[in-house]
Amino acid sequence: MKPARLLFDLRRHVASRVVGSVRAFNYDCFADRHIGPSELQKQQMLQYMGFRDLDQLTNTNVPENIKLNDELHLPAALDEWRMLTELREIVSANHVYRSYIGMGFNDCIVPKVIISNLLQNAGWTSPYTPYQPEIAQGRLESLLNFQTMVSDLTGLETSNASLLDEATACAEAACLAARYTKRNTILYDTKLHPQNFAVLKTRAEPLGIKLVPLENVENPSISKDVAGVIVQYPNTEGKVYDLTKLIENTHEAGGLAILACDILSLTMLRSPGELGADIAIGSAQRFGLPLGYGGPHPAFMSVAKTNAKNTLARMMPGRIVGVSRDAQGNPAYRLALQTREQHIRRDKATSNICTAQALPANIAAMYAVYHGPHRLAQIAKNIHKSAAYLAQRYAEAGLTVSHDVYFDTIKVKPKNLTDLRVRSEQKKINLRHFDDGFVGISVDETVLPIDIQDLLYLFAIEEDIKSIEAQTSSTASPLIGNSDHARRTPFLTHEVFNSHHSELQLIRYMKRLENKDLSLVHSMIPLGSCTMKLNASAELIPMSWTRVANIHPFAPIDQTRGFQRIFNDLERWLCEVSGYDNFSLQPNSGANGEYAGLLAIKGYLESIGQEQRKICLIPTSAHGTNPASAHLANFEVKVVESDRHGNINFKDLSAKVDQYKDRLAAIMVTYPSTHGVFESSIVDVCNKVHENGGQVYLDGANFNAQVGLCRPGDYGSDVSHFNLHKTFCIPHGGGGPGAGPIGVKSHLAPFLPGHPLVPLLGRSEGAVAATPWGSSSILTITWAYIRLMGGRGLKEATQMSILNANYMARRLENGGYRIVYKDEQGLNAHEFIIDCKPFKKSAGIDVVDIAKRLMDYGFHSPTMAWPVHDCLMIEPTESESKDEMDRFVDSLIAIREEIRQVENGELDKDVNPLKMAPHTLKVCLDSAWNRPYPRELAAFPKPWCHHKLWPTVGRIDDQFGDRNLVCSCPPVDSYE
Ligand SMILES: *Cc1c(COP(=O)(O)O)cnc(C)c1O
Repeated sequence: MKPARLLFDLRRHVASRVVGSVRAFNYDCFADRHIGPSELQKQQMLQYMGFRDLDQLTNTNVPENIKLNDELHLPAALDEWRMLTELREIVSANHVYRSYIGMGFNDCIVPKVIISNLLQNAGWTSPYTPYQPEIAQGRLESLLNFQTMVSDLTGLETSNASLLDEATACAEAACLAARYTKRNTILYDTKLHPQNFAVLKTRAEPLGIKLVPLENVENPSISKDVAGVIVQYPNTEGKVYDLTKLIENTHEAGGLAILACDILSLTMLRSPGELGADIAIGSAQRFGLPLGYGGPHPAFMSVAKTNAKNTLARMMPGRIVGVSRDAQGNPAYRLALQTREQHIRRDKATSNICTAQALPANIAAMYAVYHGPHRLAQIAKNIHKSAAYLAQRYAEAGLTVSHDVYFDTIKVKPKNLTDLRVRSEQKKINLRHFDDGFVGISVDETVLPIDIQDLLYLFAIEEDIKSIEAQTSSTASPLIGNSDHARRTPFLTHEVFNSHHSELQLIRYMKRLENKDLSLVHSMIPLGSCTMKLNASAELIPMSWTRVANIHPFAPIDQTRGFQRIFNDLERWLCEVSGYDNFSLQPNSGANGEYAGLLAIKGYLESIGQEQRKICLIPTSAHGTNPASAHLANFEVKVVESDRHGNINFKDLSAKVDQYKDRLAAIMVTYPSTHGVFESSIVDVCNKVHENGGQVYLDGANFNAQVGLCRPGDYGSDVSHFNLHKTFCIPHGGGGPGAGPIGVKSHLAPFLPGHPLVPLLGRSEGAVAATPWGSSSILTITWAYIRLMGGRGLKEATQMSILNANYMARRLENGGYRIVYKDEQGLNAHEFIIDCKPFKKSAGIDVVDIAKRLMDYGFHSPTMAWPVHDCLMIEPTESESKDEMDRFVDSLIAIREEIRQVENGELDKDVNPLKMAPHTLKVCLDSAWNRPYPRELAAFPKPWCHHKLWPTVGRIDDQFGDRNLVCSCPPVDSYE
C-alpha cells in the first residue's frame, strides 16, 4: 500500500471507530490531554506492531494468570474544571488557624516571586535528578547554594543537598555516628521534638543502636562506649542550652556531637561549628516552604572536617553536589561521591536515600538568595524580639515562663487552661499543649503586632497595638547584647546571597539557572524506571491553596477534615488499583516506603513467633534501594540470579528458598521486572516464597505498566510501595519531593507506621517520617490525577505506555539496536533496554558517549548502566506523542550511524562527535575550531536540534571532582 493511501485508510478507520466513543472528540476529557498520541498516531503504532487494538496488545503481554478481568471501580472521570471545583469543596472543610505549635514547623512568608517562577514553573518542577550534569548546571548551582547556606549557618564544612525530613535526618545522623565510631550507643536529649525521637527510635532498633536518655544536658558524664549525643538546639520547649561541657565531654569520650537545629535561629545563635559540634541536622522548612500539613520540606545535614581525609563527609548520607571541571577546564557542578550511594554500594551504602527533597531545597536556597544575610538576620531578630516581649508580659502578669534563654519559643503556664482553650478557639489560634498544663508558643515570620495582641489576650492580658509596637523592639531579650549564646561569625557572605535582592534581579537569576537545565518543557526524558510523565498544571494548583498549604502538621484533626477526606479517598482508590487492603501514606519516598514495608514484614513475623526469619532474597537486577533498605531493617540480603532472558532464575530461587527455608523472611521483586518484562513466573515466585514461610515485597516503581491491567494484591504480593512521583504524577522536582505510600494485605496492616502525636487507628507505634501522612500537600496531585482519569483513563494510560515502549523498541530494533530482554511473545512492558556493549569493541564507544551525544540532539539520556551495564533503559510513558518518540528514535539511529562511521574509519577514533560530546555553543562558535569533523555535525546533526537546549558545559570530569572535594560555592574569582 502506498503511504498516502495507508494514511487515508487509517483516517477512515479511526473515524469509523470513534463514532459513539467519547474519547477522541471530547475536548473536555482530561485523558485526551494526559495521553500523548492522537487516535491516528495510536492506530499507526498499533499497525506498525501488528496489533488490532490496545487490548489485543496488552492481552498478549500481561500473563493470563494475573490479568485483571474487571474494570477498576473508581469514580467516573471529571474534567479539570469540575475536578478543581470538587476538590475546592472538599478542602473547604480544612480550617486555617494561626498555629504557634512549633515543634520544627513554623509558618513563613513564601515570596510570591519564588512561587510563580519556581514552584509553579515546569522548568523547575519537571527535571530529573541531575545525573546528567551538563544539562543540569542550573539546579546544581542552586543546590550548591543550599549546601553553602547550610554550611555557613551551621558553621560546618560539608553539607548535603537535602534529606527527607528533620526526623529522618536525626536517624541518619545517629546511624552515621555509629558507623563512624563503630560504637552503638546514642545518648539523646529527652527534649528532642517528639517526632524526631520517634523516628530515631524506629530506625535505631533494627540496627541494634541503643538509645539512652541524656540526664543532664548541660553537665553530663559520657562513657567511652558512646557513639554520639544528639541534642535539639534550641530544644523542643524553646530552651537554648549551654553545650560547652556536653561537647567537650563527648569528644573526650571519643563520640560525636549531633545538634538538631532550627535553621533560622542560627542567624542569632552560636553555630554548631563554633560550639565544636560534629554533625548538624535540621529542616529548612521555615525558609520559604509552606507548612502543607506535613510537607514536603527539605531537611539538611552538615558535618565537620574531622580529619584530613574528610571521612565524615565521605560517609554522609544523601546527595552531595560538588564542583569539578569540564573538558575545557571550566568549573562545573556535579553530584559528588556517588560511590557512597545505594545505586552503587547497595546493601553497603551509607543510606537507602534515592529521591530526596531537591525542589524544596531549591526553594529554601532561593529564599536565602532573595533575603540575603541582613534581611534574614532582621527576620530572626523580629521574631526573637516578639518572643521576648511575650515572655516579659507573661512574667509580669505572674505566669511561670519556663526558660530564660530562648530564640522564638516560650513555654508558659496559663492561670486558667480552660479559659485559654476557649479564647484560643475564639481567636482561631493553635498553641502547643504540654502534659504538665504548660503551653508552648513559637513565634514565626508572619507574626504582626495584632497577633501578639491576640497571644496576650489568650492569657487575659489586654494591651493596645500602639504600645505593643512601641515596646516590642525595646524589650531586653536573651540573645541580643552580650549573650554567651549570640552568634559572632558572619554567614552568607558569598556574592550569590548578596546580589539578587530586587525582584527583577531574582527573576533573572532564577531564569538564568532554569535555562541551563533540560526538563520536560524541552523534550522527552525517557528514563527507564523513573516514569517521567506529564505533571498537569491542573494537578499542581491545589497544593498552593491556603487551605492546603497553610496548615500545621499537628493541627487538631477537627481542623483538617478536608485532608482526612483526601487521605480516605486516596487510600481507597489506591487499594482498588493495587488489590491491597490497607495503605499508609506516611513514607515520603519510595525507599522510605520500602523500609516501612520491610518493618511491617518484620513486625508481622515477630508477632507469629518467627523472628528468626532474617533472610531477604533480592534479585541481582533490583534497584539499589532494595538491598539498602533491607540492610537498614536488619535483614540479611541474599542475591538471586537472573536468567539470560532477564527473568528471576527460578532454579536459583528455588535452591535459595530451600536452603534458607527456616530463616526466609521475604523476597523483594520488581514487577514488571527492572528488565522491562512481564515475567510469567511471578505467581510461581510468590507461591514458592509463601509456601516456605516468607513474605513477598513487590517493588511498585513499575506500577505504570500495571494500573488497570493487573494488581499485585491479587497475584500474591503482600506489600508494595508506589512512587507517586513516578506513576501518579507528582513532578520529579529535579530529585524530589517524592511520596512512597505502601499498600499491604490485611495481615500486615497492624504493622504499618503510626505516629507519636497523631493517633492512627490500628497502626503500630513506630513512625518512619516526621508527620503522620508524610508530605500531605502533594498528595492532592495524585488525588487530582486519579479523579481526572477515572478507571478507564488510567487503564488506557497504562496500555498506551506499553504501546509507546513497544513501538520505540521495535523501531530501534529495525534501526540497528539489540533489545536486551523481551518476553516469550517478543514484547516488552512499559520500558526496555538497548544494548550498547558491542560498540565498545567495534568503535571504542562507551555508553556514556551515547548519553552525552544525545544532549547534542536535544535529549536527556535514558537510564544508564542500570540494571544492566553498558546499556540504556528507555521508558517513554503514555504522555509522549509519536512525533516526539520518533525524533528520539531517529536521534539514536543517527548516533548508531555515527558509530558506524567510527567503525569504518570515516570519523576519527578519538576525536569524533561522540567522544567530544556534548558540544557547547562556545566550543562550536570558537574560531579556532580544528576538529576533524564539521561544526554542523557537532551542533545541528538533525533539523530539530535547532531548538534544542544547549549544554552549558562540556563533559565533566567525575574523578577530579571526587579527588578534590568542594561542596560549597567557590569564590567568584575562581571562575576567571
Ligand atoms: C525509583 C525506584 C525506587 C526508589 O524510589 P525513590 O522514591 O527514589 O526512593 C525503588 N525501586 C525502583 C525499581 C525504582 O525505580
